Amino acid sequence: MKLCFNEATTKPNSNLEKDLLLCDRYGFDYIEMRIEKIKEYLATHSLDDLKFFFETHHIKPFCFNVLIGILFCDDEKWAKMLEDMDFFCTVGDAIDCRLIVATPSPDIDYCTVSEIKAEAVKRLHALDAIGSKHQMKIAFEHVGVPHFNVNTFYQAYDIVAACNSDSVGCVFDCAHFQHMDRRYDLLEKADASKIFILHLDDTIDLHIGQGRDYHRVWPGDGVVDYDRIFNILRGKGWDGVVSLELFNPKYWELDPEEAIRTGREKSVKVLSKYFPDMK
Ligand code: ZN
Repeated sequence: MKLCFNEATTKPNSNLEKDLLLCDRYGFDYIEMRIEKIKEYLATHSLDDLKFFFETHHIKPFCFNVLIGILFCDDEKWAKMLEDMDFFCTVGDAIDCRLIVATPSPDIDYCTVSEIKAEAVKRLHALDAIGSKHQMKIAFEHVGVPHFNVNTFYQAYDIVAACNSDSVGCVFDCAHFQHMDRRYDLLEKADASKIFILHLDDTIDLHIGQGRDYHRVWPGDGVVDYDRIFNILRGKGWDGVVSLELFNPKYWELDPEEAIRTGREKSVKVLSKYFPDMK
């Protein structure tokens, strides 16, 4: 099992250069890079600099984050989405990074579940048509907040299954699952090969629908039932990449080195129980 670092964890108090050096030093295998941090890096570095860094260090690029709100875009927003898609494909070709996370949108007017599904399939197909020219895969994420139009894992999975493309899969996010979902029976039904990345996070004890990104805490410090989640996934032979993704403003106040070291220690403590090679 490989451990990845999602740059949201150090969102405002670090940058890509710092995240890369610290994640490499503390033993992360992969990085999930945020678009704003890549753009900031490229203001003073070249793509060749980034490629050289990966060629000369243990840490490797795994994923880009994020195409945000891909459903029900107006023309202007969709044009911006395609711009971001092109940007990720260009960077991905340069550094051999082949996965992009895409998210649903906060609801716009009232839509039925089947209208949302049809819209999501259409948008994912459009992005997949561009990405497939670059061997790029897309991981569609459920956002566990009630007013998001795809807010459970199985809804995202159902959309991804309907896309019927080897290069379109989903994200499984532990905090989103705890916040809005907790349908372990439906997780049992999913084809695990469609889970392209797992976001590792924990959260506090709240009613369904109340959790938000800022409630996320270090893995093991909250109430996420990792036993159930990982026993289901391991039972299906899932052994994909796990990416630590927190949005806790208190952790953003930490020195990035402390956040990355703590994040690695907390992740390993949780994961080593289920993945003996994780240490
Ligand atoms: Zn996530």
